[in-house]
Amino acid sequence: MILDSKTPEGPIKDKWTKHKNDINVVGPANKRNIDIIVVGTGLAGGSASASLAEMGYNVKAFCYQDSPRRAHSIAAQGGINAAKNYQNDGDSIYRLFYDTVKGGDYRAREANVYRLAEVSVNIIDQCVAQGVPFARDYGGLLDNRSFGGVLGF
Ligand SMILES: Cc1cc2nc3c(=O)[nH]c(=O)nc-3n(C[C@H](O)[C@H](O)[C@H](O)COP(=O)(O)OP(=O)(O)OC[C@H]3O[C@@H](n4cnc5c(N)ncnc54)[C@H](O)[C@@H]3O)c2cc1C
Repeated sequence: MILDSKTPEGPIKDKWTKHKNDINVVGPANKRNIDIIVVGTGLAGGSASASLAEMGYNVKAFCYQDSPRRAHSIAAQGGINAAKNYQNDGDSIYRLFYDTVKGGDYRAREANVYRLAEVSVNIIDQCVAQGVPFARDYGGLLDNRSFGGVLGF
């Protein structure tokens, strides 16, 4: 049996961008008529819920804890990798893509990893905007460093 991951066609760096450009969009007036159910309110579910609600969809987020905060997302404190290149040391979307594929023993879906590397840049800003408490340097900027396992570490 061949598992069909339904990865879009085209060159790896264009697949998901092209797919996003090709799919139908929902008109602003119709968004409020669409219910979106999100199960789990960690960083993925919580941020998706907040962003979709901000876009106008009718979001129902479900969690089974008294507070939606008890998620792995609350436990993470080592850092998060993104192709921000704050230190101007050659960090790039391609390098994050390459690192992640290699770090995953070449078993990841490469088109999806490429998309992850691409959106990593904006995801940090989205997290900040939605209240994720990242470490800061004394000047108030996001703290960052070469991370274990990445090229150039
Ligand atoms: C101790 C620890 C340290 C980590 N450190 C790092 C790090 O430094 N850097 C890094 O990048 N990653 C780290 N990770 C991994 C990272 O935290 C996770 O990959 C990421 O937080 C997953 O986010 P998520 O929103 O997908 O899932 P989660 O944060 O796990 O959220 C899923 C939520 O769904 C809920 N849920 C599940 N099933 C149901 C259901 N049926 N109904 C309702 N709710 C449900 C869960 O209770 C939970 O609240 C760490 C993980 C752990 C555990």
